[in-house]
Amino acid sequence: MLDCEICGSAPASAKASFDGVILNVCSGCAATGKIIEQPKPAARQPVLQYIAPESGETVTENFGKIISSARQQMGLKQDELASKLNEKLSVIQAAEQGKRLDLGLARKVEKFLKIKIIEDET
Ligand SMILES: [Zn+2]
Repeated sequence: MLDCEICGSAPASAKASFDGVILNVCSGCAATGKIIEQPKPAARQPVLQYIAPESGETVTENFGKIISSARQQMGLKQDELASKLNEKLSVIQAAEQGKRLDLGLARKVEKFLKIKIIEDET
């Protein structure tokens, strides 16, 4: 990686314009110029946390397993749970696989299966 063309002591991570001169600079020096190009943030694994910013509530990390086992204890199939909650089967499947669960559904599931998957962080 190139070194910063201003301070030379940090790797250049952005392109910025200084009085019309475009230089490869580090993030610290970039802030003193006009940033033209910023590095794309590295692709990250999606974090399995569903936060409602206004309430500080999150859904517990292993919600899929909790939902799945609670459903089985009630003797329900996935499609039966889906119809009881007025949700699509695919939504329930995604939730049980730990892929996706919005807070609204989390609340319904909590109530129906009598489980605890929403954590209040506040
Ligand atoms: Zn620099």
